[in-house]
Amino acid sequence: MRWQGRRQSSNVEDRRSSTGRKVAVGGGLGTVILVVLSLLFGGNPLDVINQIDVGSGPQQETTAPADTQKDELADFVSVVLGDTEQVWGNLFEEMGRTYQEPTLVLFRNSVESGCGFASAATGPFYCPADQKIYIDLSFYQDLKDRFQAPGDFAMAYVIAHEVGHHVQNLLGISDQVHQSRSQVSQKEYNQLSVRLELQADFLAGVWAKHDQQLNNILEEGDIEEALGAANAIGDDRLQRQSQGYVVPDAFTHGTSEQRMRWFRRGFETGDINQGDTFSTPNL
Ligand SMILES: [Zn+2]
Repeated sequence: MRWQGRRQSSNVEDRRSSTGRKVAVGGGLGTVILVVLSLLFGGNPLDVINQIDVGSGPQQETTAPADTQKDELADFVSVVLGDTEQVWGNLFEEMGRTYQEPTLVLFRNSVESGCGFASAATGPFYCPADQKIYIDLSFYQDLKDRFQAPGDFAMAYVIAHEVGHHVQNLLGISDQVHQSRSQVSQKEYNQLSVRLELQADFLAGVWAKHDQQLNNILEEGDIEEALGAANAIGDDRLQRQSQGYVVPDAFTHGTSEQRMRWFRRGFETGDINQGDTFSTPNL
């Protein structure tokens, strides 16, 4: 992605120099996997955060020096966020609305969010309560090493997906899904959750299309990098890795194929009206 020397967002809150509370994760590896499955890419933070036991040990008050190695990554993230502000600002204006820009919080290891306490193991997430996106930049390395989805545009897609959740929040879409929780079965709720996630992927694609038109950001292989990330973190693939088989009813984010297809659809059309994942019978 072409990003060097471009405008950076002023909505980045850098909390990397303060370490969070010491956290003990109840349930060991099983919980960690659950957290990753549910929260990777901002699923439904509250559910899983409730399952994390906050350790009662002394609080860590030490402060770490700013991680200079990651500053280039922080700059990159700030440029991507700035680009999403530009694109969504325009698209909201076309809808006759005003885009309220989200804040992006950089943290290290763990963080106190408006949706509760979270560890970096949860992956990046969006908290609707405080309208902030939370990301530990080590996720970039995770994408590369653990998910074999390298490249700066893979990371850009991650951010754009979280911004997609913010857009859904502003448009009242996520509220509708969360409010239905008490009225539908777990299976139906999971299906709604998948639709919400695939729409966030679609919105990430819409952003990429418009950002390309505005700023000519794309380099050779960028879209493949985003698709590679969407492919790597599909529920079917994550489930196969963690338990060796696939349970479709437990999907909350969509399969690899679905995630890639909806991102691509957003990117090809650039039309927000093409992304109604809720009234599409076959996702
Ligand atoms: Zn998501």
